[in-house]
Amino acid sequence: MRLGKHVSIAGGIDQAPARAKKLGCNALQIFAKNPRGWKGRKLNPKEATRFKKEMQELEMGPLVVHATYLVNLASPKREHRDKSIISLEDDYFRSGELGADFLVFHPGSHTGSGLETGIERIAEAINSILSRVDNNTLLLLENVSGAGTSIGSKFNQLHDIIKKVKEKNRLGICLDTCHAFTAGYDLSNRDGINKMLSELDRDLGLDYLKVIHINDSKYPLDSNKDEHAHLGEGYIALEGFKEIINHPDLRELPFILETPPFQDKDRDVEIILSLRDG
Ligand SMILES: [Zn+2]
Repeated sequence: MRLGKHVSIAGGIDQAPARAKKLGCNALQIFAKNPRGWKGRKLNPKEATRFKKEMQELEMGPLVVHATYLVNLASPKREHRDKSIISLEDDYFRSGELGADFLVFHPGSHTGSGLETGIERIAEAINSILSRVDNNTLLLLENVSGAGTSIGSKFNQLHDIIKKVKEKNRLGICLDTCHAFTAGYDLSNRDGINKMLSELDRDLGLDYLKVIHINDSKYPLDSNKDEHAHLGEGYIALEGFKEIINHPDLRELPFILETPPFQDKDRDVEIILSLRDG
């Protein structure tokens, strides 16, 4: 199986592959710049080359890049929206330079300006980014918990965005198990997982699903709260994860942990490997 964890880029992006390998992973997720700022220092071409060499030598992949948290493509404030587009475009460019398979981002919040307008703005922003940056990285919309006016907690909303994008073959979705659970999809048992997958298939098509963020949830079903818990320490619990990682529709996909780091050994990595059949 392909299993990764979100790891730090402290000390340089080229340090990240070895960091993930040491945890027992063969895939990884990183930020391509500081996730809480608009601008990052320029990506050094030598660092990017070293990074790609490390990825190859350590046989790591896929590589998932996560966009910065400040991005809100649906913001009614023109300035915030423009900054978001520039930032995501920059992350997309970096993703290409690093040879990333996927760039994941949260669609955005309409902050009172209406769901339809928000969806329109997101699709327009994606179209403009795709028209300016050409690379082989797939842009993945991540499902969210549905707090406040956020867009993308239900698959039909993601579908409504994708419908309006011209180059659909450059898009996909990343399913976060914690977000899905607190958005009302009960992933703690097989029936709930099947129900979610049939909705996903109906509203979007399973082919769009490219990556799974595998996180437990600190908050209960349908709470619309977003806080990741270590596996088995949240409401999805280990029975849920055993079903998810072995499900015939999901087991071939890359799984990425976004749980807090441990001091030395990563218990979440060990748990996944122990729950995996065959
Ligand atoms: Zn996530």
